Amino acid sequence: MKQRIFTLRQGIEEGTVALEKAGVEDAARDAWYLLEYVTGIGRASYYGEPDRAISEETALRYQECIRRRKERIPLQHITGEQEFMGFPFYVNEHVLIPRQDTETLVEEAVKAVRRKAKDAEGFSLAERKIRVLDMCTGSGCILLSILKMCPDAEGKGCDISKDALAVARKNGERLRVAAQWICSDLFEGFKETEVKYDVIISNPPYIPTADIEGLQDEVRLHDPRIALDGGEDGLYFYRRIIEDGVSYMKTGGILLFEIGCGQGKDVSELMESHGFEDVTVKKDLSGLDRVAAGIYTGGSVCAGGFL
Ligand code: GLN
Repeated sequence: MKQRIFTLRQGIEEGTVALEKAGVEDAARDAWYLLEYVTGIGRASYYGEPDRAISEETALRYQECIRRRKERIPLQHITGEQEFMGFPFYVNEHVLIPRQDTETLVEEAVKAVRRKAKDAEGFSLAERKIRVLDMCTGSGCILLSILKMCPDAEGKGCDISKDALAVARKNGERLRVAAQWICSDLFEGFKETEVKYDVIISNPPYIPTADIEGLQDEVRLHDPRIALDGGEDGLYFYRRIIEDGVSYMKTGGILLFEIGCGQGKDVSELMESHGFEDVTVKKDLSGLDRVAAGIYTGGSVCAGGFL
């Protein structure tokens, strides 16, 4: 990649080779994305005129993108964007890049919110609002997608990182969604007067500390470690969110977690031992356990399942 690139075709070819040599998976796909990112030219118009010249300035910008990607900087940190639930999210190095697996969690949450909204039909407008809390919100992708899809919901996103919340806030503005944001170490900054929630949702850090070294470079070196590290057994945040979260849940409220593979049994048991009923584990598109959810009954009798 030392010589200058002058046509789109050269850009794709040389970019792909450079990324392949650096051991980047999906080298051709990433070269495409980056070329499209700097030129604004998609595949369809590329094939119309593959030998179209690009300016030296654009070529240099593209080479710089390829150079960064060779260092295993994730594509999304270079382009600043990741699509999630069909919505574009701004991302940077302060937030976990939204994963497709997490869409399974959002789909379940949307079902839960819609069900709650249906139950609330006939109540006044204020009483009908379904209150959603997204704990460890990061880019805000979970909360904002739910609020986009559920007009009956209002929500708050919480994160320990101010830098992450700046990203979440920016995403709320870009998507024109009104949400509240709070910087707090889990529930520590919550007041006793805090409202109780109908739905609490979280994709907390859940990778056991010792497993982090085995993750691919893009994740290990560039996703924020505090968004990954779930403590020695990976369950630290589930324990704290379940133990403290019950004080902020309405009876009949729903708690939904993203879980890592193999954590379904442990997380379900934790929920069951803290007053949750109808605890279910749902698999993602790859067939791995991905979501644990249950209804908070506070020990009282529960009115039926929801998933
Ligand atoms: N699912 C993410 C990964 O595989 C981790 C997300 C998390 O810890 N919450 O890297």
